[in-house]
Amino acid sequence: ITRFAPSPTGEIHLGHAYSALTAYFESQGKTGRFLVRIEDIDPPREIPGAADQILATLEAFDLEWDRTVHYQSRRLAGYAAVAQSLLEGGQAFHCSCTRSELRKANEAGELGAWYPGLCRARPTHDRATAIRLRVDQCEVKFLDGLQGTQSQNLSTLTGDYVIMRKNDLPAYHLATVLDDVEFGITHVVRGIDLLLATALHIHLQRVLGAPSPEYLHLPILVNRAGQKLSKQTGAAAVDDGAAPSIAVTLLAYLGVRTPRELVGARPRELWSWAVEAWDPASLAGRTRLSEDQFMN
Ligand code: GLU
Repeated sequence: ITRFAPSPTGEIHLGHAYSALTAYFESQGKTGRFLVRIEDIDPPREIPGAADQILATLEAFDLEWDRTVHYQSRRLAGYAAVAQSLLEGGQAFHCSCTRSELRKANEAGELGAWYPGLCRARPTHDRATAIRLRVDQCEVKFLDGLQGTQSQNLSTLTGDYVIMRKNDLPAYHLATVLDDVEFGITHVVRGIDLLLATALHIHLQRVLGAPSPEYLHLPILVNRAGQKLSKQTGAAAVDDGAAPSIAVTLLAYLGVRTPRELVGARPRELWSWAVEAWDPASLAGRTRLSEDQFMN
C-alpha cells in the first residue's frame, strides 16, 4: 500500500508527477493499492482550488487511486489527541520559544534547526506554545529501499522536534506518521530531500509503538542548471491536456524508453506496459536525475 501525499500549495509539476507515478508503480508492480492523501494543514501556504486541480491531474494521467481521498484538515482532532497523550505521558512538552530565542541559542552551532532544550524544564508559559517531542540520545538507523543503509543522530541533528505548532495545527511529521499508520501504508515512496524527515518519522513510530513502513527515497529531478525542479526554480505545471507526451517524458526520466507504437497512447496503456518494463533498482543509489539523461 503506497500513497501520494501532496500539499495543496500549487499545481503539479513534473517532480510531483514523477513521485506520484513511482508510488503508483510500486503498488501496481506488487498488486497492491495506491492511496491519495491531501496534506492540507498549512492554510497560509495553501492555494484555493489546488487540491482539486491536483486530483484532476492525477485523473488525466490515469493514476487511479484506491478508495476515497483523505484530507488531513478533516482529521485534526485525532492528531491533537495523540499530541495530548504524549504530553501527559511526559514524552512531549510545551515550548514557547520564539524564533529569535532559537536563533540566538543556535548561533554557536551550524545546525540552525537544532533545538537546545530551552523549554524542557520551563514550568509556565505566558504566550502561545507549540508541543515538542523529546529526543534523548537517539540514533536512527534504517535501510532505505533505494539509498541503502541510513543513520541519523537526532540528538545532534534536530533535538526535540515540534509535533504541534503554536497555531494548534499538527506539524507535518505528526500528521504524516499517524496517517501512514492509520491507512496501513507499507511502502513510502518519496523524494530524497525527505531522508532526515524519515529518521524523525521512524523515531516517532517507535515512541508510538507503531510499525515502520519500508522507505524508498527517490532521486530528485533537476533541471539543466542542476536545480531541483520546483515552483521556485520555475518548473512549469504539467498540462493535463498533454498527458500522453508528458507520460513519455516521465518514463524517460525513469530510464524507460517508450516503444514507438505506444507514443501518443493514453497514459493508462503506457503504464500497464511500463510497470513491467521499469526496474526500480535502476534508481538505486542515485540522488538526482537530470533532464539530459532522457535526451540520450
Ligand atoms: N506533503 C508532503 C510534500 O508534499 C509529503 C511528503 C511525504 O510524502 O511524506 O512534500
